Amino acid sequence: MSARILNGNEIRDQIRKEVAADMVELRGIGIRPGLAVILAGNNPASELYTRNKVKSCESLGIHSERLVLPETVSTEELLDRVAELNSRDEIDGILVQLPLPSQVDSKKVLLAVDPQKDVDGFHPMNIGNLVTQRPGLIPCTPAGILEILKRSNITIAGQRAVVVGRSDIVGKPVSLLLMHRNATVTVCHSRTKDLPAVCREGDILIACLGKTAMITGEYVKPGATVIDVGINQLKTRDEVERYFPGDAKRMQEFETKGSTLIGDVDPVTVRPIAGAITPVPGGVGPLTIAMLMANTVRAARLRHVQTQTPVEM
Ligand code: NDP
Repeated sequence: MSARILNGNEIRDQIRKEVAADMVELRGIGIRPGLAVILAGNNPASELYTRNKVKSCESLGIHSERLVLPETVSTEELLDRVAELNSRDEIDGILVQLPLPSQVDSKKVLLAVDPQKDVDGFHPMNIGNLVTQRPGLIPCTPAGILEILKRSNITIAGQRAVVVGRSDIVGKPVSLLLMHRNATVTVCHSRTKDLPAVCREGDILIACLGKTAMITGEYVKPGATVIDVGINQLKTRDEVERYFPGDAKRMQEFETKGSTLIGDVDPVTVRPIAGAITPVPGGVGPLTIAMLMANTVRAARLRHVQTQTPVEM
C-alpha cells in the first residue's frame, strides 16, 4: 500500500477561490487590499519568491508593490522604508523577504513592521497573539500546513503530533497551532535523543528540519500522516536515481534544469509506510503563497472593518 498523496495545489486553488470571494466583498465596501514586498540584495531564490508573490497578488486583484533595494542597504535605510509603508493607508501588508544582507539587523527590521500589517506573522506581537489564541496574523507556512490537515479530513484532536524542527518560522508556530487544535505535541530538534523512536510516536509527523530526505521509513509510524515542509535540491543523477527510482518525469526535469526538488522526507522508504503524505513539490509550498494572500486580505479586514471576530488559530 502506498500513502495517500495530499495535493497542495488543489487545496491552494480552494483557498484562492475563497480569497477571491473575500476580495469581491471588500471591493463592494470600497476596500482594495494592498501588499508591499521588500527585497534587499541579489539572492536569486528571494528574487523568484518575491516575483511570485507579486504575480499572485495581481491575479487576485490585490494591489502590490515590490521594493528592490541594493545588497549594500543599511539597517537605517530599511527602517525608513518600513516606516513609510507603515504610514501608507493603501498598504495593508508588508513583507520583508528573508534573508536580508548580512550587515542588516534583521530582527530590528522585522520588529519595525506595524503588527497590523505583519502578513508574515513574525512580529513578537503576532507571535504573542498566536500563543494566547487572540485575533492576529499567523505565519504563512504553518497556517498552510493546518489547512492541508483540516481540508484533507485528518483528525488532529487527541492525536500525537511530532514536529521535527523548532524554527520561529515553521517549527514553533506549527507546534502551537497543532496544540491549539488539541493534538499532543512533541517538538524535536538537533539535540533530540533517539529521534527515530520519538518520530515513530507521531500519528502526525511534521518534517521541517531542512535536511535532504533525512526522515526515512524508520522514523514513521505505520499509517501516520507525514507533512514534508523541506525544500532541498538534488543536483546529481545518482541522487535522483536513488530517491526517485524509475521516475522518468523526475529524470527528465533533472536533465533539463540540472536539479530537482526533494523534501526532508525520503519518498522511497516512507511512502509504503505512511497513511498520507505531502509531495515535494506540490505539497506545503503552494500553500505558503496562498496563505500570504489570505493574510493580506485578513489584514485589510482587521484594519479597515475593525472586526473583532476571533480568528481560529
Ligand atoms: P531552520 O534551519 O531555521 O530550522 C531547522 C530546524 O531543524 C532547527 O530547529 C534544527 O534544530 C532542526 N534540525 C536540523 N537538523 C536536524 C537534525 N539532524 N535532527 C533534528 N532536528 C534538526 O529551517 P526552517 O524552519 O526555516 O526551514 C525548514 C525547512 O523548511 C527548510 O528545508 C526550508 O527550505 C523549508 N521551508 C519551506 C517552506 C515552504 O513554503 N514549503 C517555507 C519555509 C521553509 P536546532 O534548533 O537544534 O538547530
